[in-house]
Amino acid sequence: MTQILRTRAELRTALAAVDRPIGLVPTMGWLHDGHRSLMQRARADNSTVVATIFVNPRQFNHAEDFSKYPRNEQRDLAICADEGVDLVWAPSVDEVYVPGFDTLVTVGAVARPLEGLARPGHFDGVATVVAILFGLVGAEHAYFGQKDAQQVMVIRRMARDLALPTDVIACPTVREPDGLALSSRNVHLSPTERAAAPVLHRALLAAAARWRSGERSGDALRSELEAVLQAEPLAQPDYVSVADPLTLAELDQVEASALLSLAVRFGSTRLIDNELLEAPAGA
Ligand code: AMP
Repeated sequence: MTQILRTRAELRTALAAVDRPIGLVPTMGWLHDGHRSLMQRARADNSTVVATIFVNPRQFNHAEDFSKYPRNEQRDLAICADEGVDLVWAPSVDEVYVPGFDTLVTVGAVARPLEGLARPGHFDGVATVVAILFGLVGAEHAYFGQKDAQQVMVIRRMARDLALPTDVIACPTVREPDGLALSSRNVHLSPTERAAAPVLHRALLAAAARWRSGERSGDALRSELEAVLQAEPLAQPDYVSVADPLTLAELDQVEASALLSLAVRFGSTRLIDNELLEAPAGA
């Protein structure tokens, strides 16, 4: 039986009665197979699975973006039940940000480039809400999608630096058959934009193939990403990046590993995706 909890007090009471370890899956709702994959991993690893559904106003750059974020709680709760989630915390904004709330968690270098540059304040909002969730739930494990690779890095840094007791586990990106990464934002794409959107994954695959066939120049790989995107008229690139996967510093030369990432607009919808390049062990 999935229990639905609204307040901090209800969550605390329910948590006191559950078996450990606890696996936490934070979400903003409008759940899809990407979220399901996190819940399945959490279910496999833990005695108790806690999912949260909270559209976090502090991580949106524009009020309009926040208000038009898709929501369907009934459907989300059915998905949580289907995945065997034990507790769902679906709080109001005031329950997360208690009266007088006045703390901001700001992560340093890994939060600054890419999404940090494109969306000022976004990672402060993410790190702050995740710190609250980690504090409230006290889970042994928390599951995040590699689709938001920089977000995983920011949360890991935050959890280590603040000595939070929750291990951050990254799970693979779940994609549509045509390669488009599942995202709650995909619902905003028009049919023609939806048809064009797999260009993100095609660009990543093309650059990854160049790297596997021996290309080591960061500029050449960035040009490859750009060239594939440019061939799609509806795609308006925001950034392309070939970066060190630990620091996110842009690379001149790619040796053992790199994180390829990009952000692209289709009309008013902004999509991100990434691919990790890793030389096979012993290569
Ligand atoms: P969101 O509801 O968009 O905040 O996402 C909640 C969690 O699901 C985050 O950890 C995301 O990285 C993860 N997620 C979103 N899309 C995918 C996907 N296509 N594959 C795997 N995880 C995802």
